[in-house]
Amino acid sequence: MKKIDNPRTAIIIGAGIGGLATGILLAKKGVQVTILEKNKHIGGRANIFVEKDFVFDMGPSWFLMPDVYEEFFGLIGEKVQDHLDLIRLDPSYRLFFRDDGSVLDMHSDVERDKHTFEQLEIGAGEKLKPYLDRTEMQYTIAMKDFVYKNYDSLFDFLNLRVALKGLRLSVFSNMDTYVSKFFKSDKIAKILQYMMVFLGSSPYNTTALYSIMNHIDFNMGVFYPQGGIYEIPKSLGALAEKFGATIRTESPVAKINVTDGVATGVRLENGEVLTADVVISNADLHFTDTQLTPEPYRLYSEKYWNKRTISPSAFIVYLGIDGETPELAHHNLIFSKDWKTNFYQIFDDPQTPHDPSLYICAPSITDPSLAPSGKSILFLLVPIAAGLALDEEQTQAFRNQIIRTIAEECDMPDLEDRIEFERVYQVQDFQKDYHSYMGSAFGLSHTMDQTAFLRPNNTHKKIKNMYFVGANTNPGIGMPMCLISAELAFKRIYNIKTNGPLEKKDLE
Ligand SMILES: Cc1cc2nc3c(=O)[nH]c(=O)nc-3n(C[C@H](O)[C@H](O)[C@H](O)COP(=O)(O)OP(=O)(O)OC[C@H]3O[C@@H](n4cnc5c(N)ncnc54)[C@H](O)[C@@H]3O)c2cc1C
Repeated sequence: MKKIDNPRTAIIIGAGIGGLATGILLAKKGVQVTILEKNKHIGGRANIFVEKDFVFDMGPSWFLMPDVYEEFFGLIGEKVQDHLDLIRLDPSYRLFFRDDGSVLDMHSDVERDKHTFEQLEIGAGEKLKPYLDRTEMQYTIAMKDFVYKNYDSLFDFLNLRVALKGLRLSVFSNMDTYVSKFFKSDKIAKILQYMMVFLGSSPYNTTALYSIMNHIDFNMGVFYPQGGIYEIPKSLGALAEKFGATIRTESPVAKINVTDGVATGVRLENGEVLTADVVISNADLHFTDTQLTPEPYRLYSEKYWNKRTISPSAFIVYLGIDGETPELAHHNLIFSKDWKTNFYQIFDDPQTPHDPSLYICAPSITDPSLAPSGKSILFLLVPIAAGLALDEEQTQAFRNQIIRTIAEECDMPDLEDRIEFERVYQVQDFQKDYHSYMGSAFGLSHTMDQTAFLRPNNTHKKIKNMYFVGANTNPGIGMPMCLISAELAFKRIYNIKTNGPLEKKDLE
């Protein structure tokens, strides 16, 4: 479909990471950009709330892939260090194994981590470096030629297959099978696979292409921006405004106006009508298609949605705690005994997990400014099936189970008594706050049939001047991916067909 050349005005629906980043790129190009956000804060799922002087990042907590931030900031003539005060965490994360009570720290330092691997499996220490070298090679290929690329057909994707097969990287099996070719220890499998949950997937349904995540956490390291993760959307918002974009919060869009296959703009819930040459939606894709788009222009049927693999939702507990938490590192993972059943109860047979894996973030260890003096914050997250909304009684019971598990596994017997503030956040909150389909925390999973050209396209097939950006389109889930998705949307608008990142001249 022929697109609109050189738009002068753009409306972006949603101020998530993808929406803000697209706003920056278009504003830098000289387009008059208006970003419309329904919530009080910008940032989308990278949200924040403050209660009793405890400062909580509500969603993302892992700053990964600093290279992607550097690339994005460099593209717009900025330096990451002028906006974010990043520190590298050591340990990167702490692991608690429920089966035997063991505790391990990972350091994103092969020399140190290989000793840990060796303790878990004889010979595994020596295998770690070659394994990680492979993941690095895959990462380099993927970033150079495939992640920053827009897909239109199977042929684009087949090239990736050929490139990786040529290197004998059998990455088209699932992650679990792939890892088992290298390591036999159950614990090592868990260490190398836990990241799948952050891709909204399970190791049993995700292509081993995503073993690149092991390069990301083991070789590149885990970082934290002082002040909290919210510093990221805050700096993106400030940059968008610096380049001339207008950001309007508490401005929910009710409809995209379309005439003869051309979007003319949007109508807000308050009735206000805004016009633009292009419309880009960063709002949840299912919501955009079924609620914001006029009927004849909808792209996906209910049957389509019913067949999708939706990433888990999250049962989150935010805690303000009296005292410190020396038992914990900044990032902590408690691994369930029955790993496979846990994934089964998330993806195949939705129910409250009996023996869940859970994640604890204790950012005030690194950043005391997040809590009043002598106090701490904790962010507890349990992945649960999308759509699994718990009632009050179930919520309380599950919350109690989680606190009990942490008290036992992390040796914090008085945890319950030290809680000064708490808030539970779950499926129905994701639906209300972000219009998230089935209350999923992350969006469409990264299964093989929802990757690259099989993931929803970022250019609207029925509306000439409409585009999508964010986690539900390419490349996918996570803040760095959403920054890249902004570059991909920009490439669509300006018909740029390169494989790699945008170049400065593209923004001139
Ligand atoms: C609990 C949790 C933990 C995570 N952990 C990590 C992590 O550690 N590291 C990481 O990199 N990523 C993590 N992620 C994923 C990451 O947060 C997301 O992939 C990313 O932030 C999504 O950005 P997005 O561009 O898709 O927009 P979204 O965040 O989905 O934002 C879309 C915006 O559109 C707005 N909107 C919706 N409807 C309308 C409307 N009608 N009008 C106006 N605005 C509207 C919404 O309010 C929202 O602000 C996590 C996510 C969650 C939820």
